[in-house]
Amino acid sequence: MIVVMRPGATQEQIDAVEARLIEFGFKTHPIYGEEKTVIGAIGDKKVLSSESLITLPGVEKIVPIMKPYKLVGRELKQSKTIVRVGQVEIGGDEVVVMAGPCAVESEEQLLTAALQVKSAGAKILRGGAFKPRTSPYAFQGLEEEGLKMLAKAREATGLPIVTEAVDPRDVELVAEYADVIQIGARNMQNFRLLQEAGMAGKPILLKRGLSSTVEEWLMAAEYIIDKGNDQIILCERGIRTYETGTRNTLDLSAVPLVQENSHLPVIVDPSHSTGSWKLVAPMSRAAVAAGADGLLIEVHPDPSRALCDGPQSLTPDNFAGLMQSLRSVAAAVGKKISH
Ligand code: PEP
Ligand code: MN
Repeated sequence: MIVVMRPGATQEQIDAVEARLIEFGFKTHPIYGEEKTVIGAIGDKKVLSSESLITLPGVEKIVPIMKPYKLVGRELKQSKTIVRVGQVEIGGDEVVVMAGPCAVESEEQLLTAALQVKSAGAKILRGGAFKPRTSPYAFQGLEEEGLKMLAKAREATGLPIVTEAVDPRDVELVAEYADVIQIGARNMQNFRLLQEAGMAGKPILLKRGLSSTVEEWLMAAEYIIDKGNDQIILCERGIRTYETGTRNTLDLSAVPLVQENSHLPVIVDPSHSTGSWKLVAPMSRAAVAAGADGLLIEVHPDPSRALCDGPQSLTPDNFAGLMQSLRSVAAAVGKKISH
């Protein structure tokens, strides 16, 4: 439920309501708005009813939360959450582009890619050190060596880094190096991993599961926010359908749907959703037109030599061209892409 405090309720009154909720075993999430404060409360309404709460000084009304996801929903928090990664803000009026190779392969490959995507206007460097591969025989990533290379590339370029954790036991290690921890599509409902990531003290990029509904995706985000971390970026990366012409089917309607139902920013991955570099530019433009808060794009200095996902990786030149064309699309929907 949401306890809505009256405009002008004192801090003492707010604290007293929170204390009462905690006394009865509720988890509380106060949100201090400009006009009034609301307290999200999750617990057993049988032990502390709305009728008794409404009698406390400063309380205006009690509103139930109808959706199964509570803290990531717009019912509790109307204003959009801005995720801060160093100087970069995701969820504001800037479309933030994150780009880089699928996998970290070598220091040289990563640094070359990092410099190339930076010069084209990317704000965050992507690169996988732990790779969740369909086949156990495919390249699994350089693990900690890869994380070290990412840290070096950040040092050299100033770009913050986003990289994936695939196992709860690796979250602490990944958090030591990463600016944003990615949870991949295959792990969207790995609830232990979500909880561990929620406690890591870093922003989380949560990809939509291959066959997950938007509601299941938001419930997965709820596991992270429940651990006290609201710095969550949702990422639509395509879902399974009967279509075989593309690797997945990019569900762009998820972008406005998520924005209607959640205050969290949502970005689009046109690379894994299409599986084909030729489709990346048009779908990136479509994603920006649909209101995406950012893009996650695979770029490789030489896609023909990529150890992972070469067919969907853009060359640095194609990426630079795409960034240029995205600027006018962003402007058309009231957003910008700074250089
Ligand atoms: C990735 O971004 O490297 C990746 C593996 O993507 P997904 O989890 O969406 O398949
Ligand atoms: Mn990939």
